[in-house]
Amino acid sequence: MRAKRAKSYRKAMQFYQQAFGFREPYQILVSPDFILAGVSKQVPVKARLEEAVQGQAKFLVTHCGISELLKTTSEFRTQAIAASKEFEKRRCPHQEPIPGLDCVREIMGDENKNNYCVAVQDDDLRAKLRTVPGVPILHVKQSVVVLERKSQVAKDASRQMEKDKLGLSELERSMLRAVKKQANEARNEKRKKKKKTAGPKGPNPLSIKKAAKKPQIPVKAAKPSQEKSASNASATVPVVATSGTKRPRSEGETSVQTAKAATVSGNSATSEEGAKHKRKRNRSAKNRGTANDSAAASQAPSS
Ligand SMILES: [Zn+2]
Repeated sequence: MRAKRAKSYRKAMQFYQQAFGFREPYQILVSPDFILAGVSKQVPVKARLEEAVQGQAKFLVTHCGISELLKTTSEFRTQAIAASKEFEKRRCPHQEPIPGLDCVREIMGDENKNNYCVAVQDDDLRAKLRTVPGVPILHVKQSVVVLERKSQVAKDASRQMEKDKLGLSELERSMLRAVKKQANEARNEKRKKKKKTAGPKGPNPLSIKKAAKKPQIPVKAAKPSQEKSASNASATVPVVATSGTKRPRSEGETSVQTAKAATVSGNSATSEEGAKHKRKRNRSAKNRGTANDSAAASQAPSS
């Protein structure tokens, strides 16, 4: 079987599973005319039927069907009887056998309560079965077993069953539709807004930083030379420090500064301690003088 057809058959059987509760192994009710058609075209009926329903199956034939095969005058009678013996016997309410097709029609009824698939060649019976919701119909066509497309009745029935499951009235359904529509519109508007904000966004601050960093990368690359120059400079610094000319000067300056600070604090003191301050001033003046002397002394060797 081609992959495409197998896929469509699998989908069809999934539909029957979901809508009508079909389960594997599927029960296939086989009519005597199907058995005869299959045998006459040398079709391995069981294997082809299982292929058509894309799953395991149980094959059923009614007593009326078997008795019809026993009575037939077809040249394929013996093969047909042999094939039917491989199927399970399905009890039917007919003490006196009736035509096989009529028996199948009766068992199926108007609802297919047993979830049977039906393998049948007769056009009239197939047409009748299409009016029963949820009946997978199979027939032999040019030595291929074909699964019919699901009928409109089956589609309508499954739709109705879904509605019944929801248990909504027509008014409730219309309200539900309106709510769904509103929700969809709101969602669409949100999406549009999102798109708008996504478009003309300002530049990403992170990206700006990266852009600023990029020019520094060549500087980093040029660092080794800088480091060399820096190391050279640092090498020169200790030479200056060891010369001992600048450091003493800075120390002298700081001592002067501290003396100044002391005088400032002395000025800010209260009038009662005026005499003490005068003494302090004298001392600080002396210090200043010594500091100046020391500074002069430190400057002298440098010059
Ligand atoms: Zn019967």
